[in-house]
Amino acid sequence: MNIKKFKFNPVEVNAIVLWDDTNECVIIDPACFYPGEEQQLKLFIETHHLKPVRLLNTHGHFDHLMGNKFVEKTWGLTSEIHKEDIFLVEQAANQAMMFGLQMAKPTLPGRFFEDGEVLTFGNSALKVIFVPGHSPGGVTFYSETDKLLIAGDILFYGSIGRTDLPRGNHEQLLTGIMEKLMVLDPQVKVYCGHGSETTIGAEKRSNPFLN
Ligand SMILES: [Zn+2]
Ligand SMILES: [Zn+2]
Repeated sequence: MNIKKFKFNPVEVNAIVLWDDTNECVIIDPACFYPGEEQQLKLFIETHHLKPVRLLNTHGHFDHLMGNKFVEKTWGLTSEIHKEDIFLVEQAANQAMMFGLQMAKPTLPGRFFEDGEVLTFGNSALKVIFVPGHSPGGVTFYSETDKLLIAGDILFYGSIGRTDLPRGNHEQLLTGIMEKLMVLDPQVKVYCGHGSETTIGAEKRSNPFLN
């Protein structure tokens, strides 16, 4: 599996494109906000001859939903998210406004994740691991074959997701991270929703929230 990370929008979200030898790709949290960012994403997809087949959201916070509309209309996709975060999708445009950002109301998702389900594209598979607490419907996407975890805002390099937002829950987040993520192979590389990459092993050793 190949991966490309973009840092998009004023909140600096890491948008992720994953693809394999079939050239089918998934776009996770597209996050593009400025027209230049949309073009950057489109150009990347086109120059690598990729075919976007799924639009996945790690959670419903507005900064991660930016770009959904662009991806939906450019490649004819509908978004997928955990159903517990629908209320956040509905509030996203208002939340963005509080940050002084004008965002069109996102389209409602077309499909909802189940914990543990396997999402396929090309010859690849991503397992949905549900870890609520940063948001009630937060999920991560895991490739066992590629030792790769797309963690959204659940786990960060040296930190964990904030839990002071609507329906956040610190205990629940910690328990989920310990029981569902820290049990993965220490070599698993973690792509976070913001900031640098890390590994499960590095966070297990030195993340102050987990030690
Ligand atoms: Zn978030
Ligand atoms: Zn975020």
